[in-house]
Amino acid sequence: MRRCPYCKVGIVGDLVKCPLCQSKLTGTGEDPCYPKFEAQKKRSIIYKIQLFLAWMLLIVGIGLDFMVGLRLPGYPKLHWSLLLALWLMVVEFGIMRQFKPGTGSAGKVTMLVLLTIAGWCVTAYFFGFMKITVDLVIPSALAAMITAHFVLAMIDRNGNTMAHLLAGLLLAVVSGVICYFTKTKMPLAWAVCLMVSVVLFAGAVIFRGRAVAAELRRRFHI
Ligand SMILES: [Zn+2]
Repeated sequence: MRRCPYCKVGIVGDLVKCPLCQSKLTGTGEDPCYPKFEAQKKRSIIYKIQLFLAWMLLIVGIGLDFMVGLRLPGYPKLHWSLLLALWLMVVEFGIMRQFKPGTGSAGKVTMLVLLTIAGWCVTAYFFGFMKITVDLVIPSALAAMITAHFVLAMIDRNGNTMAHLLAGLLLAVVSGVICYFTKTKMPLAWAVCLMVSVVLFAGAVIFRGRAVAAELRRRFHI
C-alpha cells in the first residue's frame, strides 16, 4: 500500500498521487483497484472527432453565409447558417447525452425528441411550413414517441416501467394542453395522439401493473 506523507493515509491500488492533496505517494503500489475503461477512451476519440467536424461545418457555414453572401435559392434574406448552428446544437446535445453515463434511456430519448421538435419549429417558421408542422408533423412525432415509450414500458425488465410510462404520459399531456390553448378545434392528428397515449397508458397499467407498483414503492420509498 502506498502512503501520503502529508495526509497520513494509506492509499490502496496503483495511484501515484494522493487523491486528497495531489502529493506524490511513498511506498510500493498494488494491483489497480478499478479496471481500465478502454471502450470509453475509444468512444471519447470518436466524440472529439465528430465535435471537431461539427465546429468546422459551423464555421464554414457562417463564413459562406455572412462573409461570402451565399444564400439559399428562393430565400435571399434567410441566414441559413443560423439554422445550421441550431441543428448542430441539437445533434451535439443528443450525442453528448449518449456519452454521459448514468442517465436512463427514457429521459435521453424524450429530451432529444423535444429538442428536435423545437428545432423543427424554428426551421418551419423560417421556411414557411409551420401549418403542416403544427397540424401533422409534431403530433405524429409525439405519437410515435409515446408509442415507443409504452412499448419500452411493456418490455422493460430493469425496473424502469414507470419512467417510460410517465415520460409517455407527460409528452401526451403537455402536447394536449398546448394544443387545447392554441386552437379552437383540435386537429385530427393531435386527437389521435392523445387517444393513443391514453389507451396505451391504460394498457400498460393493466398488463404491467405489478411492475409499476413495485417501481413506485422503490422510487418513493413507500
Ligand atoms: Zn495527501
